[in-house]
Amino acid sequence: MAEVRVEHLVKKYGAARALDDVTLDFPDGGFFGLLGPSGSGKTTLLRAIAGFVLPESGRVFIDGEPVENTPVEKRGIGMVFQNYALFPNMTVAENVAFGLAVRKIADADKKRRVAEVLELVQLGGFGARKPHQLSGGQRQRVAMARAIVTRPRVLLLDEPLSALDKALRVDMQIELKRIQREIGITTIFVTHDQEEALTLSDQIGILKDGRLVRHGPPREVYDDPRDSFTATFLGDARLFTGTVEAGGLRLADGTLVPGVTTPTIAVRPENIHLSRSEPATPCHLRAMLNQKIFGGALGTCLLDWQGEVIKAVGRDADFRTLPESGPVWVSWQPEHAMPITG
Ligand code: ADP
Ligand code: MG
Repeated sequence: MAEVRVEHLVKKYGAARALDDVTLDFPDGGFFGLLGPSGSGKTTLLRAIAGFVLPESGRVFIDGEPVENTPVEKRGIGMVFQNYALFPNMTVAENVAFGLAVRKIADADKKRRVAEVLELVQLGGFGARKPHQLSGGQRQRVAMARAIVTRPRVLLLDEPLSALDKALRVDMQIELKRIQREIGITTIFVTHDQEEALTLSDQIGILKDGRLVRHGPPREVYDDPRDSFTATFLGDARLFTGTVEAGGLRLADGTLVPGVTTPTIAVRPENIHLSRSEPATPCHLRAMLNQKIFGGALGTCLLDWQGEVIKAVGRDADFRTLPESGPVWVSWQPEHAMPITG
């Protein structure tokens, strides 16, 4: 197993910076989720770690050793990409063994390792099948098996589940986590699915325009995003901006939010409470309820405040007591106002 560190990585394509001074540690044996909008540099970062992309400047370390001069195949990395291609004419076992073929490993040894790794991804009896005889999820497991059969030090996964439908994806998330725990391999996982990243990762990192804007344990980043991009990209949040006074934050409609010392705060929809009568918490304002959207156990209310939309997500049962539309009270607990400093 191995820890990975990137230091001040810069990768340019023409004038654009796909990676812009990225410094980040990926802990040994951890599951690190990389998130960011399309084009933010996630794939470039994985490719730089693997050695497919040569950065203009900055360094990559695996287990403390610089790997700039280490070719791809010697870095000890296993990879699964979004469009994982299995060889259609090869059996499952042959596909998995392909990773071993170029290495000098005895046939008996090869066979045993392929069998072991197929067992690990729960495809024990499937070695003789062809890819077209497998479901999408099973093909995904073959791709995983092929990536780990070489016993890499680091596993890089670039949106490996995005080709699967939602239900299968959730199954595969659990499976992926189990395999990762079982072999304890340092894993860097790219996804555009925030829930997936929050569920699977010990640590997450958020990229935007090639820059790392925030990283840390998922709950910490979610509960205290600190910068406005992270607050609205990871989950949903309403930003409130005003003027800081001695008593708190004065919003455009004159509302004073006590205890706030930053010009901007963010509040998540699940922390927004709606009521007919004036709430006890001092963090409250009046807004116009425009729409109640039924969503099963949880519902969504859309409100207008100062020409902007405030969204509240809560138990449908609680929303039923509200009028269909018209003025209501919007409130949140003081601890749910997340200070935005960047
Ligand atoms: P992500 O994986 O987050 O969607 P990428 O790392 O693929 O983002 O791309 C980051 C930026 O670098 C994008 O603006 C993309 O257009 C650009 N880019 C990536 N690869 C190349 C390439 N081979 N040539 C030119 N531009 C590239
Ligand atoms: Mg990508």
